Amino acid sequence: MRAKKLLAATLVGSLIVPAGIVWAETSESSAEESAFRQATKFGFSGEAIQGGVIVGDVPAGTRSLVFDGNPVPMDADGKFIVAFNRDAGQAATLVATLENGQTVRQFFNIAPRKWKIQHVALNRKKRTASAAYKKRRAPELAQINAARRVQSDSKGWRQDFVWPVKGRISGMFGHQRIYNGSPGGYHTGIDIAAPTGTYFVAPADGVVTLAASSPFSLEGNLLMIDHGMGLNSAFLHSSKILVKNGQKVKRGEPIGKVGATGSATGPHLHWSMKWNKARIDPILLTGPMG
Ligand SMILES: [Zn+2]
Repeated sequence: MRAKKLLAATLVGSLIVPAGIVWAETSESSAEESAFRQATKFGFSGEAIQGGVIVGDVPAGTRSLVFDGNPVPMDADGKFIVAFNRDAGQAATLVATLENGQTVRQFFNIAPRKWKIQHVALNRKKRTASAAYKKRRAPELAQINAARRVQSDSKGWRQDFVWPVKGRISGMFGHQRIYNGSPGGYHTGIDIAAPTGTYFVAPADGVVTLAASSPFSLEGNLLMIDHGMGLNSAFLHSSKILVKNGQKVKRGEPIGKVGATGSATGPHLHWSMKWNKARIDPILLTGPMG
């Protein structure tokens, strides 16, 4: 993953909790002790920020890893990924348990973000979903949920992500509209405006977990890709999907064409990302559009 600035202020230091042996943080460091200290630290790249992602290296000898109470898988070389939901609270904790029973804790002080909130005076008609709509929607949601449950062994999560398509950003992640005081759902992805038919590419390696065979009611032609370790991307509103379910894709490979299918006012690519249940901001993986 791109070596992004790690906000020093967001990391509140490692706390080493010895089990069995007494480890004094203040002891004079012999060469052995400083090597030990080095080995019992996490390494990180990324930002502890709402909607952000961190790729890290576990301390040497880590047997298991837990993030806010949930187990986190590690790659063979000790690399792992964790992310912070759009509405993540202030604090998160990562705990590595070492082979010797010792635990290493890392506290994160999650930087909050100022989301753009638009108050809309327009009186939105209370829409009650019709029985016909519910009947159509249920299998769509079932397909989306099934796709999210696929855990591929893709290594895409380890890569620097690229923009799937370039163009004017017409909608940022996290924006929210409030209609006469009642909040609507926030924008779950980033919108990139581009003419219908423009190719878009895989932002990183992955496995296709859903290539809709016909347009979904809201998402239109929906394409979902798993990047491994619980990280996935969804691409909405395509005019055409160029890949098939289960297909492996490479970063930069064309996977679809921009369109305006489903609920869209004009041709654009809506790209959203999740890490397990956390909704994350794609721009924090790609960096600004060059
Ligand atoms: Zn969108």
